[in-house]
Amino acid sequence: MHVTIIGGGFGGVKAALELAKNTKNRITLITDKPDFQYYPTLYSSATGHSHAESWVPLGEIFADHVNVHVYVDEVTGLNATTKTIHAASGTTYKYDVLVMALGVVTTYFGIPGLETYAYGIKNVEEIQRLKQRLFIDIAEKGRLDKNYVIIGAGPTGIELSAAIGTYIKRLCRHYGVNRHRIRVRLVEAAPRVLPRSHPHTSRHVTRRLKKLGVSVEVGKRVEKENAHQLIVSGNPIESHTVIWTSGVANHPLYAAHPHIFTLAKNGRVVVDEHLQATKDVYVIGDNAATPFTGLAQTAIHDALTVAANFERMKKGKKPRKYRAVLPVQAIPVGSRWAVVEWRWIRIYGLAGALLRRAADFVGYSEVLPFGTAIGAWKAATVYENDYFTPTLRRIRKRK
Ligand SMILES: Cc1cc2nc3c(=O)[nH]c(=O)nc-3n(C[C@H](O)[C@H](O)[C@H](O)COP(=O)(O)OP(=O)(O)OC[C@H]3O[C@@H](n4cnc5c(N)ncnc54)[C@H](O)[C@@H]3O)c2cc1C
Repeated sequence: MHVTIIGGGFGGVKAALELAKNTKNRITLITDKPDFQYYPTLYSSATGHSHAESWVPLGEIFADHVNVHVYVDEVTGLNATTKTIHAASGTTYKYDVLVMALGVVTTYFGIPGLETYAYGIKNVEEIQRLKQRLFIDIAEKGRLDKNYVIIGAGPTGIELSAAIGTYIKRLCRHYGVNRHRIRVRLVEAAPRVLPRSHPHTSRHVTRRLKKLGVSVEVGKRVEKENAHQLIVSGNPIESHTVIWTSGVANHPLYAAHPHIFTLAKNGRVVVDEHLQATKDVYVIGDNAATPFTGLAQTAIHDALTVAANFERMKKGKKPRKYRAVLPVQAIPVGSRWAVVEWRWIRIYGLAGALLRRAADFVGYSEVLPFGTAIGAWKAATVYENDYFTPTLRRIRKRK
């Protein structure tokens, strides 16, 4: 069986790995970047962590899979009648069966100035820009911004605002920069942080953020940004470091092909009970209008579903119906503290942080070879210094 996959993220890589287990399968993976990006820890590369935990070359992932052929190319068009894919390099790829996992793109909801002045955290380039901004200003110019503003109190905004203050303090200490009072502000339009989580979780997380010195400003709307200021609910905030974590929209390739794809209200692609959008074209992960779309765990689950169904169909069996699975939410808020939420279960603090570290290991090992997964996971502890160090220090002191 020959399967073509577009997108080298969680969904695409997992589908390729799963299909590659059957050496009779031939897999073509077309993706626009040579690396796999582990988004859950991507932001931490801008706050002092090693990038090894966040992006891994695809060549390393597929080194032992001779039946996977990776093409680094940007897909620009699709023809479902001739079963062809058009790419930016000018190449036309033919497919028999296609799996699409292109991920989402950042959107600024038309708020003036954000696209020009705000920092994003969705890809390596954006992260490098932010990293330079934070690092160079302090390390080389010995200068601090008046306000570090994070827009959006979803999981990413929460993690980032908790991490950024600690990072800036560390840099200041290291480079001897006078850090009067670092103002990290988290701005959210909804009336509480983590609006999709249980109100208890929002309260706990707000308390934790305040303890870390983050100013939590909910019910506030960002109106515009210029080179020096962000206007929030009519009030100016002086800042050159505004980080946008709020909006994502489905990949524009789908809207550009209305004769192939039907879009749901949220812009994601409508799929049938086998994740098929149209004959022989399957859409998975962030692109599919499934109940828990937008999470890496869902993308992996979708990839496993389509791969298993392809194997069943090859044997002449009927494909199984897609079953949405509620993912576990695990959000770190500073060092040694995280909230874990699943149905009615809520765990806060160090226990949550340990669970999140375990979840990261599972996440890495789903898509990376074991050795690389261990390496990436360990890289995440380099800076954190971590859950055990303070405990070890206490033990040593007692001795
Ligand atoms: C900052 C951040 C933090 C996150 N934290 C978490 C978390 O803690 N837990 C969690 O479960 N989820 C988290 N997510 C969500 C999770 O990362 C996504 O749900 C997951 O990556 C979706 O997988 P996917 O395969 O659908 O898309 P992606 O992983 O985004 O992969 C899309 C791939 O398609 C490629 N591509 C895009 N356009 C083209 C094109 N035209 N041609 C060829 N290739 C193309 C991209 O380069 C990429 O390789 C986070 C997301 C972000 C942005």
